[in-house]
Parts: sequence; structure tokens; C-alpha cells
Amino acid sequence: MSQSEFDVIVVGAGNAAFCAALAAQEQGAKVVVLERAPEEENGGNSRFTAGAIRFAYRGIDDLREVVPDLTPEEIANTDFGTYTEDQFFEDMFRVTRYRTDPALCERLVKSSFSTMKWLRGKGVRFVPIYGRQAFKIDGKFKFWGGLTLEFVGGGPGLLDQETTIARKNGIQIRYNARVTSLIHKDGVVSGVKVFENGATSEMHAKAVVLATGGFESNPEWRTKYLGPGWELAKVRGTRFNTGEGIRMGLEIGASAYGNWSGCHAVGWDYNAPEFGDLSVGDNFQKHSYPWGIMINAQGKRFVDEGADFRNYTYAKYGRRILEQPDQFAWQIFDKKVIHLLRDEYRIKRVSKVSANTLEELVTKLEGVDPAAALAHIKAYNAAVKKDVPFNPNVKDGRGTDGLEVPKSNWANTIDEAPFEAYQVGCGITFTFGGLRIDPETGQVMNSDMQPITGLYTAGEMVGGLFYFNYPGGTGLMSGCVFGRLAGDNAGKAATGK
Ligand SMILES: Cc1cc2nc3c(=O)[nH]c(=O)nc-3n(C[C@H](O)[C@H](O)[C@H](O)COP(=O)(O)OP(=O)(O)OC[C@H]3O[C@@H](n4cnc5c(N)ncnc54)[C@H](O)[C@@H]3O)c2cc1C
Repeated sequence: MSQSEFDVIVVGAGNAAFCAALAAQEQGAKVVVLERAPEEENGGNSRFTAGAIRFAYRGIDDLREVVPDLTPEEIANTDFGTYTEDQFFEDMFRVTRYRTDPALCERLVKSSFSTMKWLRGKGVRFVPIYGRQAFKIDGKFKFWGGLTLEFVGGGPGLLDQETTIARKNGIQIRYNARVTSLIHKDGVVSGVKVFENGATSEMHAKAVVLATGGFESNPEWRTKYLGPGWELAKVRGTRFNTGEGIRMGLEIGASAYGNWSGCHAVGWDYNAPEFGDLSVGDNFQKHSYPWGIMINAQGKRFVDEGADFRNYTYAKYGRRILEQPDQFAWQIFDKKVIHLLRDEYRIKRVSKVSANTLEELVTKLEGVDPAAALAHIKAYNAAVKKDVPFNPNVKDGRGTDGLEVPKSNWANTIDEAPFEAYQVGCGITFTFGGLRIDPETGQVMNSDMQPITGLYTAGEMVGGLFYFNYPGGTGLMSGCVFGRLAGDNAGKAATGK
């Protein structure tokens, strides 16, 4: 097939790109996917995920449509609860402080379940997230936090499934193919310039879908848009998301939109490498802080570790860690909660110290003022409301009294040996600022608020959905919903449907 024989060019080969490619192909379009990374590093941030995906469901009957292979035992032994569209809206509004674009948010929430069914119809398989999103109560698993399913095989499984399905549907995938600019004239996009095999060539098509992720892996843009200090963050995922798609859109007059100084960033092993490492995946994250406390170099707590379920706080606490002196924190736990720590605390490459007394522990916390830390932990212990029972399954109200930085739930004294502490820095996941799209079509809008003919975008590149914070599992759903929307309309435009 010659290079100009494609109807739709999809740029990037992550989750949003594959959803766009499959939707465009469904419209009868001939589709090519151009991916900058070599094949062995393919899949963008999507491959690095745990594969957890958020969507609205009314109960077990809805779940069975998406996971038809749930066994009767699983159904009998599990309380899957519900996660209604209203709950999804409420979570989006609350965590974004009501800044999420209402039209984008509505499309995300209202299309979430039908998109899960669409993916299942394509052959994508999901399983319940028993390990991380459910607790066992009286012999029965109970899901919490509105996040119930993940792709079989997590992030790598997601990518492998989507890649196989795309190939089966005749979609061509080219690795080591870096798109450098858009071909356009008089406001119409008609192809891309691509650097491949040491040479740049032009590739023409009737529509282009950009799905090249955010600018999290570009330290210059991070410093410029997120602020000073952000060049020091570690990147949790792919090194290839350097904002090129966003740049290409802006170069031809696309409208910048959303929370350009905002991003998703978490507590991440302080000694993790500069970029994500696929052999470790997301295990450098350290998300069990609600069961303990976090202190900084001055020995002080600086966030309410129990403000909410971790799904609703983890994405904003990376920034708070970056703001601390020398950009680190230590998470501290005692015997009472160590069994509750997530699997990521038990990996080999972990920055951890243990001790049998608090006095010994504080001397082992690299970079921390030990006397201040000891005094602070003791003051925290004294402030815990010991008469309220601890319950990790609900917001238990077991908080603290009279502290400058309160802990609202799950406050336990730290006084029973052994003690463990984990050093975390800031790990950036993805950036929130991007391009403005028409929520009805996925088409990129220009700064005159007119759609740019032939140009669509999806995934992390879409601006306006997330502000300040983010409900876990929404990135993949956003990629699926807006990827499908963009691909569907690009395919229709290209085939004249
Ligand atoms: C460690 C980690 C864990 C996560 N866990 C979850 C989770 O469990 N659930 C969830 O919902 N979200 C999770 N996320 C967020 C999620 O990864 C993203 O929201 C989502 O994968 C973004 O998909 P995307 O298709 O927009 O981008 P990506 O999957 O990053 O794909 C972008 C692709 O574009 C390519 N590209 C870039 N520039 C060019 C160019 N010039 N030419 C050609 N190709 C280019 C890149 O190489 C990349 O392959 C996690 C992220 C990380 C890093």
C-alpha cells in the first residue's frame, strides 16, 4: 500500500490511539497507526498502567455484560455495589473543584458504560480488581471507590489485546515513525510529515487523529507550564510523551484548553529512575499513606493523609511532596497496619528503612531532622481519637484532634514495633492541559472556536476534563471514550458517511 492510500492517520499507539483506530476502521476507513517508539517500548503510558478503568454501572447485571465470564462463586462472594452516573459526575465535579468542562464530562460519564460494552464487543477482556479495590468483610469481598474492573493483564495486557485486535482488523501499525508536523492549508489538515528510517516523508490522508499523550516527559515544558521545580520530578511512564502532538496542533492555530499548570502526580519511590521502567511498571508508586503518616525533612506532616479514599487524593499529593524542602517525604507505618500495605511496598527496588523503636526509626530517615520528627510523631499519637474504631473499608471518622494538619480518617497511633518507613518523591503521571475539542465530534477547535477540518484528538491531549486532581481510572476511560469519538468521526469524514 503506498503512503497516500490511507483514509485516516492515527498518531501514537497508546490506548486512545487504538480506540480511535478501531472506531475509524469500523466506518470502513483504511487506517494506519504511526508510533514514535520502537516496538519493544510501544504502548505509551497506557502500557505502564495497572489497567484500572472507571465507568458507571448500575449493579451486577451491567458488570456481567462487560465480564460475562464472572463465575457464580465470584458473584456470590462479592458485593460489587453500584457506581451510578450521578456518582461518577459527583466524583468528577468534586475532585476538579467544579472546573471540569460540563460537555466533556457529560460525554465521558454518559458514554462510559456503552464504551465498555463496545470494547468487550471488539474482544477486549476485563476482570474485577480484587487485589487493590476490594476488602474482605465477613468472608465477602466488598468493592469501594467506584473502581471495579481492570483490563486482563493490566496495562501490558490492555496494549497487547488492543494491538492484536487492531492488526486482526487490518490496521497497519508502524513503529519508529515519529510524526513531526501536520500538513495543512487554509485551515484544512490533509496529512502529516513523518520521520521514519532516517528520512522525513509526507503522508496524506483525509483525517488525522493525534493521540500522542501530554508533555509530562518534557522537562522544559514541565518547568515552563507546571512551574519551577517540576524539572525535578520523576516520570512514571513513557519517555516519549514530550508534547509533540500538542505542539503540532498549536502550530496550526488550535486552541489551548484546560489546566495547563496542572498534572497528575503521585508519591513515587524517591530513588526511582528518570522515566518509567516497564520491568517495575507502576510499582514505584506508594499509595498506602492513608493508613500511616507522611513527614517532610523538617519532621512535619504536611497533608491530611486520610482526607478521602486514596483514589481521590493520590493524584494531587505528588505535587504536595514536590513542594516540600528537598522534594521528598517519608511514609511511616507501624505493626498495626503493615499487613494492609499494597503489594508495591514489597518489591525489591524500594527505598525503605525499618526499626524496633521510634527513636531508632527517626535516625534512619535520610534527610530528616530526627528530634523534630520524634516530637511530631508523639504529638500526632496523642491527638488520635482512640475511641473511634478503625475501619479501612469506610471513611471511618477516626481522625485527630487539635493538630495544625489534621488527619480526618484512619488515624492510628504509631507506637507498635516493628516500624517501617518508605521514602517518596514526586512522580508525574500526565499533564492536564491540552487542546480544545468539539465534545460532539472529537474535532480539534481553533482559537476562533471553529473546528479544524481533518484534525481530531483524544486521550491525554484533550484539555478541559481534569483540573487540580483526578478520580483514579479515568485516564483510560477518557482515552476510550474520546478515542472512539474521534475515530468514529474521522472515519465518517474520510469515507463520506
Ligand atoms: C504508571 C502509570 C499508571 C497509570 N495507571 C492508570 C490506571 O490504572 N488507570 C487509568 O485510567 N490511567 C492510568 N494511568 C494514566 C494513563 O496511562 C493515561 O491516562 C492513558 O494511558 C493515556 O493514554 P493516551 O493514549 O492518551 O497516551 P499514551 O498511552 O501515553 O500514548 C501516547 C503515544 O504517543 C506516542 N507519541 C508521542 N509523540 C509522538 C510523535 N511525535 N509521533 C508518533 N507517536 C508519538 C508515544 O510514544 C505513546 O506511545 C497511569 C499512568 C502511569 C504512567
